[in-house]
Amino acid sequence: MAFLLAFLAACAFALGTVLQQKGTVETSAGARDPRFLVQILRRPVWLAGLGLQVVGWVLQAFALKDGALMVVQSVTSLSLVVALPLGAKITDQRISRRVLIGAVAMVAGIVVFLLAGSPQGGTSQPDAAAWWAAILATVVVIGLLAGLGRYRTGAVRALLLGSAAGVLFALQAAVTKVFMTQLGHGVAALLDNWTTYALIVSAIAGFVIQQSALRTDVPERGMPLVRQTVMVHAKADADIIAVRPLLGWPNVTLLTGAEVTNLQTDDSGRTVTGVVVSRDGNREIYTGDIVAVSAGAANSAKILLNSANDAHPHGLANGSDQVGRNYMFHNCKAIAALCTEKNDTIYQKTLGINDFYFGTKDYEYPAGNIQMVGKSNAEAMRGEQPEKTWFAPEWTLADTARHSVDWWLTTEDLPVPENRVTTGKDGHVHLTYTPTNAEEADRLYHELKKILNHTGMAAHHVFRKNFYMDMDVPLAGCAHQAGTCRFGTDPATSVLDINCQAHEVDNLYVVDTSFFPSIGAVNPALTAIANALRVGEHLRSRMA
Ligand SMILES: Cc1cc2nc3c(=O)[nH]c(=O)nc-3n(C[C@H](O)[C@H](O)[C@H](O)COP(=O)(O)OP(=O)(O)OC[C@H]3O[C@@H](n4cnc5c(N)ncnc54)[C@H](O)[C@@H]3O)c2cc1C
Repeated sequence: MAFLLAFLAACAFALGTVLQQKGTVETSAGARDPRFLVQILRRPVWLAGLGLQVVGWVLQAFALKDGALMVVQSVTSLSLVVALPLGAKITDQRISRRVLIGAVAMVAGIVVFLLAGSPQGGTSQPDAAAWWAAILATVVVIGLLAGLGRYRTGAVRALLLGSAAGVLFALQAAVTKVFMTQLGHGVAALLDNWTTYALIVSAIAGFVIQQSALRTDVPERGMPLVRQTVMVHAKADADIIAVRPLLGWPNVTLLTGAEVTNLQTDDSGRTVTGVVVSRDGNREIYTGDIVAVSAGAANSAKILLNSANDAHPHGLANGSDQVGRNYMFHNCKAIAALCTEKNDTIYQKTLGINDFYFGTKDYEYPAGNIQMVGKSNAEAMRGEQPEKTWFAPEWTLADTARHSVDWWLTTEDLPVPENRVTTGKDGHVHLTYTPTNAEEADRLYHELKKILNHTGMAAHHVFRKNFYMDMDVPLAGCAHQAGTCRFGTDPATSVLDINCQAHEVDNLYVVDTSFFPSIGAVNPALTAIANALRVGEHLRSRMA
């Protein structure tokens, strides 16, 4: 009976946690913001989750009444495994093979523990020394985990806080067992026993830590628009407006978890005859009359370079030696302009300034584009500068973010042949890169400061003088990469013709930001999309 009750408790905990997580990720306030509690308490889905957690605790308590603590706890920990398919269903995500293997290993571990270890015995009335040792150990471990969690973000923080909550719930189970033995002795006995109060304190503390963990394990808080719209699939991204509608077509197949490793050609080298794919550890080959590579600037170059054969000794379509060259990713600065007033804006990305695109008053060369960027937040600041923010308590970063007006400065990154993607013997990408246009980027920053001063923001600055924080976006932040297979009319200096067809291969197209001969100083996605539509028209007429 104890076994069954424990398993039902595991199911209730699993569903409760998943519903609570759904409720917490839909809030706009951070876990330490007092508004967070108000917001979650207003969410029916979160309250339903809370109700299930209470049901789970009651079932667990009755299981503990007669069952051995270790048996009941082992079975209730299966809630982790039960939560996986529920969470995947609710968040519309696939369970990865790694997680699946982990879940199977966990179940196997518990089964072995219960069968081979046959845990039993123990006492429902431990002595004071045992309690003190357990409480002290719990406090130390939780303090360490929660303390480390303070200085981490994202999944690591969720893991640390989740572990802290788990340790606390383990102690809570031990206290619950003692509590259940007192239950038959009446209310007065319960009020007179310390375990009743320990239960209440541990339940509240566990609740707070668990909610923080659930709240942490969400995508960037700095992109509230993304976070809120993704939940209802309302974001007009490639997945929603392009890929999903296509999946209903009988001649469209989407393979996930598939990595193209290289392309094969016929002996002449003029026709791609096979697309070699690594999928779930297997090698598969696909064929098509026309092959379009769209793996992004670095990876498209990687695929072509790794497809070298007798007809294309330096990489597929690389007779010009231009594949991988002229890599660009913009000379960007993220700026947080601080002021004493709070900036409560949520959807901040509303303003763009192109006044300096072709030059400034005292400089005749292009400086670039200024735009507002998604609202900064503590997690984003820590993520962008982990070394500098390692010791900063969360509230200092949160407060800085709350008082910042955030900007994104883009200066053109020039196409330099030596800035290039190559692949090593292992087939992995290597990037050689030297920044360009540093002076132009500094001039653009200078112009922004002048504008902010002019608009009166300086009067509100924290230190009553100009105070800006800026961050040059490093190579690791190469979101805007482009230019490794540039198009052109001359096969000697370009990889693709003006239809993005490889000069040297009849049925090969590269249709992503690789085709850019220059990157300009504006975000690249719309250009990539417009070009893909243009190439699509060309392909349709070719296939007609
Ligand atoms: C955080 C972030 C914010 C951005 N914000 C903006 C913005 O506001 N505005 C804007 O215009 N641009 C923005 N960009 C840039 C924009 O997303 C890119 O310029 C654009 O997506 C590039 O399109 P692409 O088709 O070249 O490559 P991608 O969109 O990168 O598509 C390449 C695809 O190929 C897949 N792939 C790679 N290698 C292989 C392989 N070997 N086999 C199979 N598949 C493979 C990848 O998984 C990926 O799905 C942002 C980028 C990032 C990362």
